[in-house]
Amino acid sequence: MTFLGRGFSSPLWQHMAVKVSTAYFPADYPALVTIRRVAVIGAGTMGAGIAQVCAQTGWETRLFDSFPRSLERGMEKINEFWEGGISRGKTTPQQKEEWASNLLAVSEISDAVRESDIVIEAVPEKMELKRLIFRDLERMAPTSAILATNTSGLPISEIASHTNCPERVIGMHFFNPVPLMKLLEIVHHEAVDERTLSTAKEVGEAMGKTTILVRDVPGFATSRLGVVLGNEAIRMLSEGVASASDIDTAMRLGYRHPMGPLELSDLVGLDVRRDILNSLAEAFDDDSYKPHRLLEEMVEAGDLGKKTGRGVYDWTSGEKRER
Ligand code: NAD
Repeated sequence: MTFLGRGFSSPLWQHMAVKVSTAYFPADYPALVTIRRVAVIGAGTMGAGIAQVCAQTGWETRLFDSFPRSLERGMEKINEFWEGGISRGKTTPQQKEEWASNLLAVSEISDAVRESDIVIEAVPEKMELKRLIFRDLERMAPTSAILATNTSGLPISEIASHTNCPERVIGMHFFNPVPLMKLLEIVHHEAVDERTLSTAKEVGEAMGKTTILVRDVPGFATSRLGVVLGNEAIRMLSEGVASASDIDTAMRLGYRHPMGPLELSDLVGLDVRRDILNSLAEAFDDDSYKPHRLLEEMVEAGDLGKKTGRGVYDWTSGEKRER
């Protein structure tokens, strides 16, 4: 078994139902859940955030990525978040130590999912990739484990149909940044069973999230509205309707959105948004969902948003700058 510690203290797994850490959660939060071990597949924007919150919740959390550098980056990001909490006085070094001891970077998927109670997949938004992962998960994870996908828009029923255990497959759609965003969309499909549904809800609530239950329709409740707004904002930018920051300000001040649609697109990742739009266009057989040409061009140029330093905005200085 190959584990990559990355400077965190050695894990002291507690093989018992664990108390939910109170650091980010109200005191009256449910103290016990039946989950002990969680595996997170994919250590990018979402996977790292999900693994972080699982570790904070007190669960033994294993984070896997097929690219060693991505795994390293994911662990670094989590560490930076916790260090930032200490420097702002929101987290104590003892808390960080405890959370870090719950988290392990793992270089083999089989080691990540072994003995897990729930596996949460957060690999890129490609059906073929998720299909292969779920085939592995079905083979390698315990037969009692819940198999959740963090997809933003792919049909859960289709992902489930590639397994022989669709009753254990469910959508758990977290939001970015996971440690701060309160919403968890739980996406159910016809073949899912009651236990899977209630466990997913219980897991989300233990992580401090407010859960909503959504039927398995393309784009669920959130992504469909979010990407359509973002795509339209990019179309307006390409037409020279206004500058990027003025388009964003229009929605922030005119409609009280906490963040403009272009800044949000950069935060989510332009490639992620492009992929969601393509999957909506295909699912609804409607080209009006297709990503705008400018969005395609930015993705092709490698300008994926904040994660690459450039997207609609230039982030290379650490601050948002108009390009
Ligand atoms: P990302 O590109 O930041 O991260 C994906 C990670 O998966 C990368 O680290 C990559 O190395 C890894 N990966 C690729 N192939 C893999 C494999 N075969 N096995 C293991 N790991 C593999 O993407 P993301 O933004 O974290 O998105 C992940 C999923 O979450 C997507 O389905 C996306 O639609 C969804 N989602 C994204 C957001 C967002 O704001 N970015 C929000 C909600 C949901």
